[in-house]
Amino acid sequence: NIIWAVEHGHQAAISIHRHCERQPVNERLPPGMNLQSRKMGMHEWSYANDYSPVERRLMPHVSLKERFKKLNIEVELGFTAEQVEQEVQRCLNCDVQTVFVAKLCIECDACLDICPVDCLTITENGPEAELRARLKAPARNLAQPLYVSAALPQTGRVMVKDEDLCVHCGLCAERCPTAAWDMQKSQLHWPHAEDEARALEARKTKIA
Ligand code: SF4
Ligand code: SF4
Repeated sequence: NIIWAVEHGHQAAISIHRHCERQPVNERLPPGMNLQSRKMGMHEWSYANDYSPVERRLMPHVSLKERFKKLNIEVELGFTAEQVEQEVQRCLNCDVQTVFVAKLCIECDACLDICPVDCLTITENGPEAELRARLKAPARNLAQPLYVSAALPQTGRVMVKDEDLCVHCGLCAERCPTAAWDMQKSQLHWPHAEDEARALEARKTKIA
């Protein structure tokens, strides 16, 4: 698809640049990630965090009768502006991450109580299979790794989160009295040829 085609183009450009600079073509700069808090106030986030459980609506199509009359017409009619507005409310804000700082947690359980999908548990650490079974909501999807925090300062237990269930509503971060949870927007940075060029240039300057 077009996304892969563009990415392959980027990778080819990096290889060509490295080849011209007599550098090994199979070496690459590592990808980077930025995290920025979305907190604006006690109960305010700079993203729409209300989760809407409405069902995905069906895309309206031209009737079969019309389609057989004219075979070269566009079949999908698209949503109205109002329908689009409702559809985007189902967004799970996958780019906004729940970030946890274990040393700030006082184990008050407020985030566990407020989480609407029971994806948080504070418990003793243990082997993964056994840990998965004793979470508040047992984590059965083995393809989804669990988040297990460092030992918490008060009791040495750990905060465990099943990302499979989280709807990124931010209620845990809103409720937490010590800001141990925060909602942070993540931005991935995949190096392009110009980044490789800059890095090579910087290395040359350093050697000189
Ligand atoms: S963001 Fe919402 S669903 Fe996810 S852990 Fe926090 S309270 Fe639970
Ligand atoms: S609300 Fe905050 S302090 Fe309380 S248990 Fe959750 S993360 Fe820890």
